[in-house]
Amino acid sequence: MKNGWPDADTLGGVDLAEKRDYYEVLGLDKSASDDEIKKAFRSLARKHHPDKNQDNPDAERLFKEVQEAYAVLSNPEQRRQYDMFGHDSPGGSPFGPGGFQGVNINLDDLFSGGFDSIFSSMFGGGGQSRSRRGHDVLVKHSVTLEQIFREEEIEFEADLATECDACGGSGAKTPEDVQVCHTCEGQGQVRQQARIGPFVQQVINDCPSCGGQGRTIKNRCRNCKGEGFVEEKQKLRFTIPPGAEDGTRMRMRGKGEPIRGGVNGDLYIQLETEPHPWFERDGPDLIMALPLGYPEMVLGTEVELPHVDGKMMRIVVPPGSKPSETIIVKGRGMARRRARGYGDVTILLKLHVPDKISKSMRGVLDSLREDFGLPIDSIEDAVRNEAKDRRS
Ligand SMILES: [Zn+2]
Ligand SMILES: [Zn+2]
Repeated sequence: MKNGWPDADTLGGVDLAEKRDYYEVLGLDKSASDDEIKKAFRSLARKHHPDKNQDNPDAERLFKEVQEAYAVLSNPEQRRQYDMFGHDSPGGSPFGPGGFQGVNINLDDLFSGGFDSIFSSMFGGGGQSRSRRGHDVLVKHSVTLEQIFREEEIEFEADLATECDACGGSGAKTPEDVQVCHTCEGQGQVRQQARIGPFVQQVINDCPSCGGQGRTIKNRCRNCKGEGFVEEKQKLRFTIPPGAEDGTRMRMRGKGEPIRGGVNGDLYIQLETEPHPWFERDGPDLIMALPLGYPEMVLGTEVELPHVDGKMMRIVVPPGSKPSETIIVKGRGMARRRARGYGDVTILLKLHVPDKISKSMRGVLDSLREDFGLPIDSIEDAVRNEAKDRRS
């Protein structure tokens, strides 16, 4: 912890990275409608159903993969979360720590549509005392390499949902306008029956009348239109963690979307790195190209450039340097993450050839041809030698 803010939380685990995109699994793009999602699921689930693929060892895995994709994309809340975070959802897998376990679906149900209740009850409540939690919110903020190098403290403003002052977050005009929900008698959850394969099972779902809050509002608060919260500019402050990379996320617990009668979601700040005028980044290492004229290559030179650490960086080009050779300046890259020290700067040498030359320049170059040029009759040998060097 630094300045009271949490450390960077990298969420891209390796196992998650290998997981296929849900849209890809269903062969759809992100704009797919609910209908298209259902259609794709039906046809793929039929195709991979274990009853039809007894000889195919892959079928079960594919069937499960299709189910999982459908479970998430057919649920508006889960889909929203997935669109925002992908597989590395901050709360972990929506199916719990063990991930998706797969369900048995009869082949018949895939034709009749009898599979819907299985999926609609999957996130519904199922758990007995699941506490309601607001959405997680992702805010992107771009920073320069220099700011990352300095591990700068950043302050910026973002529109975020905050509790409505007028009603104190209740969403009601007056306290008397808050009434106990008749459908669930204030429980927030109702028991429903769902078919899971051949079984009929009791499942607990959020109450449809009150959306799981256990109460309804007679007259809504005007300020927030009954939402209980309003969008407001808020100041956010965080310190860039050492070695932060493009996409690094920092979590601020409880700073996400509030929810009436529940726990606030979390807020994530995702760092986006602004392109540097000449550096590319490879983890802690910085990479750049340095164009030099022929005389500088042959005779050697020294160059100074302003660097991300605020000082000048001196690059010593030794005599006899060749294009496409690299020079490495040790320890002047970015901070290493979770390790000591800094990366290196790799400088790729490029030969600068002017687009246009003057008449007098042409004369000078012509006269140099004899000493520096490659005679036409030795081209073949030169090609041969180059290949030999390249291969050795
Ligand atoms: Zn209710
Ligand atoms: Zn209000």
